[in-house]
Amino acid sequence: MNKSDSERIAGILSHFGYELCDNENDADFCIVNTCSIRQLSEDKAYSKLGVWGKMKKHKPLKIGICGCVAQQEGQNLLKRFPYLDLVFGTHNIYELPDLINKEGRICAVTDKPIAEKEFNITRTRGLNAWLPIIEGCNNFCSYCIVPYTRGRERSREPQNIINEAKNIIKQGYKEITLLGQNVDSYGKDLANKPTLAYLLREIEKLEGNFRIRFVTSYPTDITDELIETVKNSKKICECFHIPMQSGSTPILKAMNRRYTREQYAQIVKKIRDNIEDVTITSDFIAGFPGETEEDFNQTLSAFDEFEFDYSNTAAYSPRPKTPAAKWADKYVSEEEKKKRLLILNDKVKEMTLKSNQKYVGKTLEVLIESFKDGKFEGRTRNNKVVHISDKDINVGDFVDVKIERASTWCLFGSKK
Ligand code: SAH
Ligand code: SF4
Repeated sequence: MNKSDSERIAGILSHFGYELCDNENDADFCIVNTCSIRQLSEDKAYSKLGVWGKMKKHKPLKIGICGCVAQQEGQNLLKRFPYLDLVFGTHNIYELPDLINKEGRICAVTDKPIAEKEFNITRTRGLNAWLPIIEGCNNFCSYCIVPYTRGRERSREPQNIINEAKNIIKQGYKEITLLGQNVDSYGKDLANKPTLAYLLREIEKLEGNFRIRFVTSYPTDITDELIETVKNSKKICECFHIPMQSGSTPILKAMNRRYTREQYAQIVKKIRDNIEDVTITSDFIAGFPGETEEDFNQTLSAFDEFEFDYSNTAAYSPRPKTPAAKWADKYVSEEEKKKRLLILNDKVKEMTLKSNQKYVGKTLEVLIESFKDGKFEGRTRNNKVVHISDKDINVGDFVDVKIERASTWCLFGSKK
C-alpha cells in the first residue's frame, strides 16, 4: 500500500515539474513515505530524516514526511526535526497540490480523508502494477495501529478501478495486484455492494494477457463466491495471503481476531479442496502479550497442519493507542520474543522448502520478469520465484517451465 501511495505521490509531483531521481544526493526534494506497523519501521523513517538533515547543511533541500508515522505524529514531527519542511498524513495525499508551493513549514494531517482526484501515477518499472481498491480497516485487532493511521474502510468506485486497470494493461503491465488492508471488505460501504469477486471478474473480462492478484484477505471474510471465482478464472492467480497471526485460539481472542483455530482450518480446507496447486501464505506474530510456551507451540503446529507455503513473521511490537500496548504486565521478555522469532523463521524456511519441493517434476507457467546475473527469472501463477536456464526467451513472456530443482527461496527449471 505504501509503494502504491508513493507512486501516486510521485505522479502528483510530476504535475509540478518534479521527476524521480535514482540517487538521493541528486534530489532537491526528499520525502520519506513511512510505515508505523512496528517500532522498527518508525525508527528507520526517523534515521532517514537525520541523514537528509545533514545533507541540508551543505545544499538547499526540501524535506518531507508522509504516511502512517506522519498521520500518527503530525505537528510533533515539525518540533522534533527542525529541518523538516512538510508533513502530510495518509488522508492528505490529494491535498499535496495545494501544499507544494506554500511558504513556511507545513503540517497537513486531518482525520477526514481528502477525496481522490485524477493525477498521473508514476508507476514502478517492471511487470506488476499495484491497484488499491480499498483503504483503511474496521477490525481493530488489539495489537494493530492501522485503523488509527489509515482510518475506516473506504472502497473505491468499481468504475474508477476498472478504468485504472484498463490503463495499466494499455501501458504494458502483465500483472495487476489489487490492494487493501482487508480486500474481502471491498464494496460493503458502496451503493449496490459490489464484492471483491465481482471486481475480479470484471477485471478478468478486460482484453489482454495478464495476471491478477489480490492482498490481503481476512480469514473469515473469504467467501465461497471468491473461492469459486478464483477457481474458474484463467487470469486470477491461485494464491491466498491469509494472515493467521497465532495458532492458539486464546491468543487469537486476545488479539481480537474474529476466528478460532478451527474456523481458520475450515477456510484453508475449503480453499485447498477447491483450487489445485493453490498457495496459502500467512503472517504470524511471535511473543504477543500473554503468549505462553504452549500458545507458541500451537503456532508452530499450525504450520504443520495448514502447510503454509510461506509466512511473514514479526516479534510483537507495542504500538501507541492500541489496547495490547497497555498489557505491560503480560509482556513477553525481549529475549524470549527474539528466541521465538528465530524458531518461527526456521519453521517458515522448513515449510517453504517443503512447499517448493512439491513442484519438482511439474510444468508451471512462468511470467519472465528480469534477466539477472546471466539468468532469466520469473514467477509462477502461485508466486514462486523460478530461475530459468534457457536464453531464447524475453522479459514479459509467459513460458511453460519444467521444474528441475527446488531450494528454500526459489525453483530452477528450463523451458518445456
Ligand atoms: N490486514 C492484514 C495485516 C496488515 S498489517 C491482516 O489483518 O492480516 C501486516 C502484518 O503486520 C500483520 O499481519 C501482523 O502480522 C503484523 N503486525 C501488525 N501489528 C503488529 C505489531 N504491533 N507487532 C508486530 N507485528 C504486527
Ligand atoms: Fe491491522 Fe489487519 Fe487487524 Fe486491520 S485486520 S487491524 S490491518 S491486523
